[in-house]
Amino acid sequence: MSVNRTIIIGAGQAGAQAAISLRQFGYDGEIHLIGEEPAPPYQRPPLSKAYLKGSLDRERLFIKPETFYAEKDISLHMSKRVASVNSEAQSVELSDGSELTYTSLVFATGSRPRKLPVPGSDLDNVLDLRTLSDVDSLKPLVGTGKSAVIIGAGYIGLEAAAVMIELGMNVTVIELAPRVLARVTSPIMSDFYHGLHTKNGVDIRLETSVSAINGTTGVESVTLNTGETLAADIVLAGIGILPNEEIASSGGIDCENGILVNEQAMTSVPNVYAIGDCARRPLVHYGRVSRLESVHNAIEQGKIAAAHITEKAHPKEDVPWFWSDQYDVKLQIAGLSEGHDETVVRGSLEENKFSVFYFKGEKLVAVDAVNSAPEFMTAKKLILNRSDVSQNDIRNPNITMKDLMAKA
Ligand code: FAD
Repeated sequence: MSVNRTIIIGAGQAGAQAAISLRQFGYDGEIHLIGEEPAPPYQRPPLSKAYLKGSLDRERLFIKPETFYAEKDISLHMSKRVASVNSEAQSVELSDGSELTYTSLVFATGSRPRKLPVPGSDLDNVLDLRTLSDVDSLKPLVGTGKSAVIIGAGYIGLEAAAVMIELGMNVTVIELAPRVLARVTSPIMSDFYHGLHTKNGVDIRLETSVSAINGTTGVESVTLNTGETLAADIVLAGIGILPNEEIASSGGIDCENGILVNEQAMTSVPNVYAIGDCARRPLVHYGRVSRLESVHNAIEQGKIAAAHITEKAHPKEDVPWFWSDQYDVKLQIAGLSEGHDETVVRGSLEENKFSVFYFKGEKLVAVDAVNSAPEFMTAKKLILNRSDVSQNDIRNPNITMKDLMAKA
């Protein structure tokens, strides 16, 4: 093949970023951004927040206007699915039977919702919340007086619960674990969010599961493991996601709960990269590998893959970060709290303005900052620069975030 050609599988947050960065870094080969969804690349976070609520226009979801891709000579293939990859021949086959060869290949295939393992989950109005079309199906069903049962008290389930209760619905959240957000945060944060939702009228059932979803064509009710039956116009599943790694693994690329990559986003096969939700990457600030499900991760890895393909300097990794909006509460998370052994709380839980700092031994590893942007910014910099900060510094009200920032 005489021309350079990069094929990006998946036109989501990471795929779009890789294409944009390739051009920014001066790549002059062909770029094919292939996505199975009918829409150009868009941001998912507003789907469970402002877009579901109706306070953000559809146009604002798109990462770039559709004309941008043509202007940058990026071939955007929408509603096209890559069916398989032949890494020896360096080619991909699309589901319409056409083939394209590549010099570089980027998996940006994202992830998909786990399916509910209960009878009745195929009824109408039992929905996931992953894609724009999921939310476009959900929006006409939400409204005052309707009942929603949300299965799973993770960020997406709780964000949707906040929107639906604000729209005047009856909302019940069913969670198998003994606390909300159990997989992703500390008991302090779980208690705070549990209280916030119950104060706003959400009915949260912990250590509970759904045994069946009932109805004739559409959902009418949900039966719990306790034997209780709840009326439901909508059931929303938010029970986690699985990485889209199957095409990579059938193409001989090493996968293990995610496509395995090194610091340059390179897979086990030459000229093949994986970025975003589908990739399991080294976390340079934490000395381990993990999959991250966040916009920051998708953008960062998109840039890393593009830099490597164009032989530019490796972009410096930031500390992983994430956010969640529920009611008027903005949560900003810097770092990864997994494995922490101490927590220090600063601020006021009663006033919905506080931060939980996570320490592992002497080391600050993460912060959950609730309506506290300076704490988020400061902790992020302290973690990034591996600066010395003690639990007493955080506890001391006479030491301001400005003081700590100066130390970072
Ligand atoms: P995606 O954005 O999922 O894109 C992957 C694309 O690849 C999809 O369009 C998929 O259809 C396509 N694809 C897959 N296989 C193929 C194939 N074989 N051929 C062609 N196309 C294919 N993160 C935050 O940081 N903050 C938030 O507040 C936040 N809120 C969120 C709210 C919701 C409702 C959701 C769903 C996610 C949220 N996230 C949030 C997570 C964040 O949006 C994801 O981590 C990010 O979108 C991952 O980007 P990605 O490109 O890896 O995957």
